[in-house]
Amino acid sequence: MIRAQHSLQSYNTFGIDARARWFSEIETPDALQALLKQHPDRPLFVLGGGSNLLLTRDLDQWVLHNRISGKSIVREEANNVVVRIGGGENWHETVLWSLQQGYGGLENLSLIPGTAGAAPIQNIGAYGVELSEVFERLEAIDLQTGERLEFTAEEAAFGYRDSLFKRALKGKIFITHIHLKLTRQKHACNTSYGALKNTLEEWGIHAPAPADISRAVIHIRQSKLPDPAELGNSGSFFKNPVIDKVQFESLRQQYPQVPGYPMSDAQVKVPAGWLIEQAGWKGKRVGSVGTYPKQALVLVNYGGAKGEAVWALARQIMADVKQQFSIDLQPEVNVL
Ligand SMILES: Cc1cc2nc3c(=O)[nH]c(=O)nc-3n(C[C@H](O)[C@H](O)[C@H](O)COP(=O)(O)OP(=O)(O)OC[C@H]3O[C@@H](n4cnc5c(N)ncnc54)[C@H](O)[C@@H]3O)c2cc1C
Repeated sequence: MIRAQHSLQSYNTFGIDARARWFSEIETPDALQALLKQHPDRPLFVLGGGSNLLLTRDLDQWVLHNRISGKSIVREEANNVVVRIGGGENWHETVLWSLQQGYGGLENLSLIPGTAGAAPIQNIGAYGVELSEVFERLEAIDLQTGERLEFTAEEAAFGYRDSLFKRALKGKIFITHIHLKLTRQKHACNTSYGALKNTLEEWGIHAPAPADISRAVIHIRQSKLPDPAELGNSGSFFKNPVIDKVQFESLRQQYPQVPGYPMSDAQVKVPAGWLIEQAGWKGKRVGSVGTYPKQALVLVNYGGAKGEAVWALARQIMADVKQQFSIDLQPEVNVL
Protein backbone atom coordinates (compact mmCIF):
# COMPACT_ATOMS: atom_id res chain seq x y z
CA MET A 1 0.00 0.00 0.00
CA ILE A 2 1.22 3.50 -0.80
CA ARG A 3 0.21 6.30 1.58
CA ALA A 4 0.52 9.96 0.57
CA GLN A 5 1.73 12.89 2.71
CA HIS A 6 2.51 10.54 5.59
CA SER A 7 3.82 11.99 8.88
CA LEU A 8 7.27 10.69 9.85
CA GLN A 9 7.17 12.02 13.42
CA SER A 10 6.88 8.57 15.00
CA TYR A 11 9.45 7.12 12.58
CA ASN A 12 12.48 9.18 13.68
CA THR A 13 14.01 9.20 17.16
CA PHE A 14 14.48 13.00 17.09
CA GLY A 15 10.66 13.14 16.94
CA ILE A 16 10.74 15.73 14.14
CA ASP A 17 7.43 16.28 12.39
CA ALA A 18 8.22 16.03 8.68
CA ARG A 19 6.16 14.40 5.93
CA ALA A 20 6.89 11.84 3.24
CA ARG A 21 5.30 12.50 -0.14
CA TRP A 22 4.67 8.75 -0.43
CA PHE A 23 5.21 6.02 2.16
CA SER A 24 5.17 2.19 2.00
CA GLU A 25 5.99 -0.61 4.43
CA ILE A 26 8.21 -3.25 2.82
CA GLU A 27 7.72 -6.73 4.28
CA THR A 28 9.45 -8.96 1.72
CA PRO A 29 12.11 -8.58 -0.99
CA ASP A 30 9.55 -9.81 -3.57
CA ALA A 31 7.09 -7.08 -2.56
CA LEU A 32 9.81 -4.46 -2.97
CA GLN A 33 10.76 -5.77 -6.41
CA ALA A 34 7.09 -5.69 -7.50
CA LEU A 35 6.64 -2.10 -6.25
CA LEU A 36 9.80 -0.93 -8.00
CA LYS A 37 8.55 -2.47 -11.24
CA GLN A 38 5.11 -0.85 -10.97
CA HIS A 39 6.48 2.60 -10.13
CA PRO A 40 9.83 3.12 -11.80
CA ASP A 41 11.51 6.54 -11.70
CA ARG A 42 10.17 7.69 -8.32
CA PRO A 43 12.82 9.23 -6.05
CA LEU A 44 13.29 6.77 -3.18
CA PHE A 45 14.41 6.89 0.43
CA VAL A 46 14.98 3.80 2.60
CA LEU A 47 13.95 4.18 6.23
CA GLY A 48 14.87 1.86 9.09
CA GLY A 49 14.28 2.90 12.69
CA GLY A 50 15.00 6.57 11.96
CA SER A 51 17.63 6.66 14.73
CA ASN A 52 20.42 8.11 12.61
CA LEU A 53 18.45 10.80 10.82
CA LEU A 54 17.78 14.50 11.12
CA LEU A 55 14.85 15.61 8.99
CA THR A 56 15.16 19.32 8.21
CA ARG A 57 12.41 19.27 5.57
CA ASP A 58 9.52 17.23 4.18
CA LEU A 59 10.76 14.40 1.98
CA ASP A 60 9.65 14.79 -1.62
CA GLN A 61 10.39 11.09 -2.01
CA TRP A 62 8.85 7.67 -1.71
CA VAL A 63 9.85 6.46 1.74
CA LEU A 64 10.30 2.68 1.90
CA HIS A 65 10.11 1.57 5.52
CA ASN A 66 12.00 -1.67 6.11
CA ARG A 67 9.78 -4.25 7.85
CA ILE A 68 11.48 -7.40 6.57
CA SER A 69 11.59 -9.81 9.50
CA GLY A 70 13.06 -13.22 10.30
CA LYS A 71 16.01 -14.77 12.10
CA SER A 72 17.44 -18.09 10.99
CA ILE A 73 20.57 -20.20 11.17
CA VAL A 74 22.44 -20.53 7.88
CA ARG A 75 25.34 -22.69 8.96
CA GLU A 76 26.85 -24.21 12.09
CA GLU A 77 30.54 -24.88 12.58
CA ALA A 78 32.45 -26.27 15.57
CA ASN A 79 32.78 -22.94 17.39
CA ASN A 80 30.66 -20.64 15.21
CA VAL A 81 27.24 -20.14 13.78
CA VAL A 82 26.17 -17.95 10.87
CA VAL A 83 22.75 -16.32 11.31
CA ARG A 84 20.62 -14.51 8.72
CA ILE A 85 18.62 -11.57 10.04
CA GLY A 86 15.80 -9.71 8.24
CA GLY A 87 16.81 -6.09 7.68
CA GLY A 88 13.67 -4.76 9.38
CA GLU A 89 14.36 -6.59 12.65
CA ASN A 90 15.03 -4.35 15.65
CA TRP A 91 18.77 -4.39 16.35
CA HIS A 92 18.64 -4.63 20.14
CA GLU A 93 16.05 -7.43 20.03
CA THR A 94 18.37 -9.25 17.64
CA VAL A 95 21.21 -8.90 20.17
CA LEU A 96 18.99 -10.27 22.97
CA TRP A 97 17.83 -13.14 20.75
CA SER A 98 21.45 -14.07 19.94
CA LEU A 99 22.30 -14.13 23.66
CA GLN A 100 19.25 -16.30 24.42
CA GLN A 101 20.54 -18.80 21.84
CA GLY A 102 23.89 -18.80 23.69
CA TYR A 103 25.74 -16.98 20.88
CA GLY A 104 28.49 -14.43 21.46
CA GLY A 105 29.69 -11.49 19.38
CA LEU A 106 26.91 -8.89 19.61
CA GLU A 107 26.91 -8.23 23.37
CA ASN A 108 28.91 -4.97 23.24
CA LEU A 109 26.43 -3.61 20.68
CA SER A 110 23.45 -3.97 23.04
CA LEU A 111 20.83 -1.22 23.16
CA ILE A 112 21.87 0.53 19.93
CA PRO A 113 18.57 1.67 18.41
CA GLY A 114 17.54 1.01 14.82
CA THR A 115 17.24 -1.93 12.48
CA ALA A 116 19.54 -4.79 11.54
CA GLY A 117 19.48 -3.64 7.89
CA ALA A 118 20.96 -0.26 8.77
CA ALA A 119 23.68 -1.68 11.03
CA PRO A 120 26.27 -2.18 8.24
CA ILE A 121 25.72 1.30 6.80
CA GLN A 122 27.73 3.15 9.39
CA ASN A 123 29.34 -0.05 10.73
CA ILE A 124 27.73 0.46 14.12
CA GLY A 125 30.13 0.34 16.99
CA ALA A 126 30.20 0.68 20.76
CA TYR A 127 32.29 -0.31 23.77
CA GLY A 128 35.30 -1.46 21.75
CA VAL A 129 33.45 -3.54 19.13
CA GLU A 130 32.22 -2.81 15.59
CA LEU A 131 29.71 -4.71 13.45
CA SER A 132 32.49 -5.47 10.92
CA GLU A 133 33.97 -7.95 13.44
CA VAL A 134 30.99 -10.31 13.07
CA PHE A 135 29.69 -9.34 9.63
CA GLU A 136 29.83 -12.04 6.96
CA ARG A 137 27.75 -10.65 4.10
CA LEU A 138 24.50 -8.92 3.22
CA GLU A 139 21.69 -9.26 0.72
CA ALA A 140 20.25 -6.19 -0.96
CA ILE A 141 18.12 -5.00 -3.83
CA ASP A 142 19.30 -2.43 -6.36
CA LEU A 143 16.73 0.37 -6.16
CA GLN A 144 17.16 1.29 -9.82
CA THR A 145 17.10 -2.13 -11.48
CA GLY A 146 15.34 -4.23 -8.82
CA GLU A 147 18.18 -6.75 -9.12
CA ARG A 148 19.23 -8.84 -6.09
CA LEU A 149 22.78 -8.17 -4.93
CA GLU A 150 25.19 -9.55 -2.32
CA PHE A 151 28.17 -7.93 -0.64
CA THR A 152 30.89 -9.65 1.36
CA ALA A 153 32.68 -8.09 4.33
CA GLU A 154 35.63 -7.26 2.08
CA GLU A 155 33.41 -5.53 -0.48
CA ALA A 156 31.69 -3.56 2.28
CA ALA A 157 34.96 -1.62 2.88
CA PHE A 158 34.14 -0.97 6.52
CA GLY A 159 35.83 1.85 8.43
CA TYR A 160 35.13 3.88 11.55
CA ARG A 161 31.37 4.66 11.27
CA ASP A 162 31.78 4.13 7.56
CA SER A 163 31.25 1.67 4.71
CA LEU A 164 30.68 1.43 0.97
CA PHE A 165 26.93 1.75 1.73
CA LYS A 166 27.45 5.18 3.30
CA ARG A 167 29.51 6.34 0.32
CA ALA A 168 29.30 5.07 -3.27
CA LEU A 169 26.09 3.05 -2.68
CA LYS A 170 24.33 5.62 -0.48
CA GLY A 171 20.65 5.73 -1.45
CA LYS A 172 21.18 3.14 -4.22
CA ILE A 173 20.37 -0.15 -2.48
CA PHE A 174 17.84 -1.58 -0.01
CA ILE A 175 19.49 -3.97 2.46
CA THR A 176 17.09 -6.89 2.96
CA HIS A 177 19.14 -9.29 5.11
CA ILE A 178 22.44 -9.41 6.96
CA HIS A 179 24.52 -12.51 7.77
CA LEU A 180 26.53 -12.49 10.99
CA LYS A 181 29.14 -14.99 12.15
CA LEU A 182 28.78 -15.46 15.91
CA THR A 183 30.48 -17.73 18.43
CA ARG A 184 28.77 -20.82 19.90
CA GLN A 185 31.61 -21.44 22.33
CA LYS A 186 35.09 -20.03 23.07
CA HIS A 187 33.54 -16.56 23.07
CA ALA A 188 36.01 -13.72 22.45
CA CYS A 189 34.66 -11.31 25.07
CA ASN A 190 35.95 -7.75 24.68
CA THR A 191 36.12 -5.78 27.93
CA SER A 192 38.84 -3.38 26.81
CA TYR A 193 36.61 -0.33 27.15
CA GLY A 194 37.29 1.39 30.50
CA ALA A 195 33.73 1.95 31.70
CA LEU A 196 32.77 -1.62 30.80
CA LYS A 197 35.74 -3.11 32.64
CA ASN A 198 35.00 -0.97 35.72
CA THR A 199 31.32 -1.91 35.80
CA LEU A 200 32.09 -5.63 35.60
CA GLU A 201 34.69 -5.26 38.35
CA GLU A 202 32.21 -3.38 40.55
CA TRP A 203 29.77 -6.26 40.01
CA GLY A 204 32.49 -8.77 41.00
CA ILE A 205 32.46 -10.45 37.57
CA HIS A 206 36.00 -11.49 36.61
CA ALA A 207 35.32 -13.96 33.77
CA PRO A 208 32.29 -12.42 32.05
CA ALA A 209 30.02 -14.34 29.71
CA PRO A 210 28.50 -12.48 26.72
CA ALA A 211 25.24 -11.99 28.68
CA ASP A 212 27.16 -10.28 31.54
CA ILE A 213 28.76 -7.89 29.06
CA SER A 214 25.37 -7.11 27.55
CA ARG A 215 23.91 -6.34 31.00
CA ALA A 216 26.84 -4.06 31.81
CA VAL A 217 26.60 -2.23 28.47
CA ILE A 218 22.85 -1.72 28.97
CA HIS A 219 23.49 -0.43 32.49
CA ILE A 220 26.15 2.08 31.32
CA ARG A 221 24.12 3.26 28.32
CA GLN A 222 20.98 3.80 30.39
CA SER A 223 22.94 5.86 32.89
CA LYS A 224 24.42 8.26 30.37
CA LEU A 225 22.36 8.38 27.18
CA PRO A 226 18.84 9.79 26.86
CA ASP A 227 16.07 7.37 25.92
CA PRO A 228 14.61 8.61 22.60
CA ALA A 229 11.15 7.58 23.84
CA GLU A 230 11.49 10.30 26.49
CA LEU A 231 13.78 12.88 24.88
CA GLY A 232 14.18 13.13 21.10
CA ASN A 233 17.76 12.51 19.95
CA SER A 234 19.85 10.59 17.46
CA GLY A 235 22.67 9.40 19.71
CA SER A 236 26.10 10.85 18.97
CA PHE A 237 25.47 13.68 16.56
CA PHE A 238 29.12 14.03 15.45
CA LYS A 239 31.89 11.55 14.67
CA ASN A 240 34.98 11.66 16.86
CA PRO A 241 37.50 13.53 14.69
CA VAL A 242 40.73 11.80 13.73
CA ILE A 243 43.58 14.31 13.52
CA ASP A 244 47.27 13.98 12.74
CA LYS A 245 49.70 13.45 15.56
CA VAL A 246 51.49 16.76 15.04
CA GLN A 247 48.24 18.66 15.43
CA PHE A 248 47.38 16.57 18.48
CA GLU A 249 50.73 17.36 20.15
CA SER A 250 50.28 21.09 19.62
CA LEU A 251 46.72 20.80 21.00
CA ARG A 252 48.11 19.00 24.04
CA GLN A 253 50.53 21.83 24.72
CA GLN A 254 47.60 24.20 25.00
CA TYR A 255 45.22 21.74 26.69
CA PRO A 256 47.33 19.19 28.64
CA GLN A 257 44.21 17.24 29.66
CA VAL A 258 42.98 16.62 26.06
CA PRO A 259 42.08 12.91 25.67
CA GLY A 260 43.39 11.13 22.57
CA TYR A 261 43.31 7.55 21.29
CA PRO A 262 46.04 6.57 18.79
CA MET A 263 44.54 5.21 15.55
CA SER A 264 47.90 4.61 13.87
CA ASP A 265 51.45 5.95 14.19
CA ALA A 266 50.35 9.16 12.54
CA GLN A 267 46.74 9.69 13.67
CA VAL A 268 44.89 10.29 16.92
CA LYS A 269 41.12 10.16 17.62
CA VAL A 270 39.86 12.97 19.85
CA PRO A 271 36.47 12.65 21.59
CA ALA A 272 34.09 15.13 19.96
CA GLY A 273 32.17 15.35 23.27
CA TRP A 274 35.28 16.76 25.00
CA LEU A 275 35.79 19.40 22.27
CA ILE A 276 32.11 20.45 22.46
CA GLU A 277 32.27 20.64 26.23
CA GLN A 278 35.44 22.79 26.11
CA ALA A 279 33.71 25.06 23.59
CA GLY A 280 31.12 25.72 26.31
CA TRP A 281 28.20 23.81 24.81
CA LYS A 282 27.64 21.00 27.34
CA GLY A 283 24.07 21.08 28.64
CA LYS A 284 23.27 24.36 26.85
CA ARG A 285 19.73 24.88 25.62
CA VAL A 286 18.63 27.18 22.78
CA GLY A 287 14.81 27.29 22.65
CA SER A 288 13.56 23.73 22.20
CA VAL A 289 16.95 22.22 21.27
CA GLY A 290 20.21 21.73 23.14
CA THR A 291 23.02 19.38 24.08
CA TYR A 292 22.35 16.63 26.62
CA PRO A 293 23.63 17.65 30.07
CA LYS A 294 25.36 14.28 30.68
CA GLN A 295 26.87 13.96 27.18
CA ALA A 296 27.57 17.02 25.02
CA LEU A 297 27.86 14.89 21.88
CA VAL A 298 24.12 14.17 21.95
CA LEU A 299 21.85 16.90 20.59
CA VAL A 300 18.30 16.77 21.91
CA ASN A 301 14.81 17.94 20.99
CA TYR A 302 13.14 19.14 24.21
CA GLY A 303 9.78 19.01 22.40
CA GLY A 304 8.29 20.44 19.24
CA ALA A 305 11.63 21.40 17.66
CA LYS A 306 11.96 21.76 13.91
CA GLY A 307 14.80 19.90 12.22
CA GLU A 308 16.21 23.25 11.04
CA ALA A 309 16.65 24.33 14.69
CA VAL A 310 18.65 21.19 15.51
CA TRP A 311 20.77 21.71 12.39
CA ALA A 312 21.36 25.41 13.25
CA LEU A 313 22.59 24.34 16.71
CA ALA A 314 24.84 21.68 15.15
CA ARG A 315 26.35 24.23 12.73
CA GLN A 316 27.00 26.69 15.56
CA ILE A 317 28.78 23.98 17.56
CA MET A 318 30.85 23.02 14.50
CA ALA A 319 31.84 26.67 13.94
CA ASP A 320 32.84 27.18 17.60
CA VAL A 321 34.91 23.97 17.71
CA LYS A 322 36.59 24.96 14.45
CA GLN A 323 37.41 28.42 15.77
CA GLN A 324 38.77 27.20 19.11
CA PHE A 325 40.62 24.04 18.02
CA SER A 326 40.95 24.27 14.19
CA ILE A 327 39.21 20.88 14.03
CA ASP A 328 36.33 20.12 11.65
CA LEU A 329 33.52 18.13 13.24
CA GLN A 330 31.58 15.90 10.84
CA PRO A 331 27.97 14.86 11.54
CA GLU A 332 27.57 11.14 12.17
CA VAL A 333 23.83 11.56 11.69
CA ASN A 334 22.34 11.67 8.16
CA VAL A 335 21.06 15.22 7.73
CA LEU A 336 18.27 15.49 5.15
C1 LIG B 1 20.14 6.94 21.72
C2 LIG B 1 20.95 6.51 20.52
C3 LIG B 1 22.16 5.85 20.70
C4 LIG B 1 22.93 5.45 19.61
N1 LIG B 1 24.10 4.78 19.84
C5 LIG B 1 24.86 4.37 18.81
C6 LIG B 1 26.08 3.65 19.04
O1 LIG B 1 26.48 3.40 20.18
N2 LIG B 1 26.80 3.28 17.96
C7 LIG B 1 26.40 3.51 16.69
O2 LIG B 1 27.11 3.11 15.77
N3 LIG B 1 25.25 4.17 16.44
C8 LIG B 1 24.47 4.60 17.45
N4 LIG B 1 23.30 5.28 17.22
C9 LIG B 1 22.92 5.57 15.82
C10 LIG B 1 21.91 4.58 15.20
O3 LIG B 1 21.25 3.84 16.18
C11 LIG B 1 22.58 3.62 14.22
O4 LIG B 1 23.26 4.33 13.22
C12 LIG B 1 21.58 2.66 13.57
O5 LIG B 1 22.26 1.66 12.84
C13 LIG B 1 20.60 3.36 12.64
O6 LIG B 1 19.61 2.43 12.28
P1 LIG B 1 18.19 2.87 11.76
O7 LIG B 1 17.48 1.63 11.33
O8 LIG B 1 17.51 3.70 12.75
O9 LIG B 1 18.60 3.73 10.47
P2 LIG B 1 17.85 5.03 9.89
O10 LIG B 1 18.08 6.17 10.80
O11 LIG B 1 16.46 4.71 9.53
O12 LIG B 1 18.68 5.25 8.55
C14 LIG B 1 20.02 5.68 8.59
C15 LIG B 1 20.56 5.73 7.15
O13 LIG B 1 20.63 4.39 6.63
C16 LIG B 1 19.79 4.25 5.47
N5 LIG B 1 19.13 2.94 5.62
C17 LIG B 1 18.42 2.49 6.70
N6 LIG B 1 18.04 1.21 6.50
C18 LIG B 1 18.50 0.85 5.28
C19 LIG B 1 18.43 -0.35 4.50
N7 LIG B 1 17.78 -1.46 4.93
N8 LIG B 1 19.01 -0.37 3.27
C20 LIG B 1 19.66 0.72 2.81
N9 LIG B 1 19.75 1.88 3.47
C21 LIG B 1 19.19 1.94 4.70
C22 LIG B 1 18.82 5.41 5.51
O14 LIG B 1 18.41 5.75 4.20
C23 LIG B 1 19.68 6.49 6.17
O15 LIG B 1 20.52 7.10 5.22
C24 LIG B 1 22.50 5.71 18.28
C25 LIG B 1 21.27 6.37 18.11
C26 LIG B 1 20.51 6.77 19.20
C27 LIG B 1 19.19 7.45 18.97
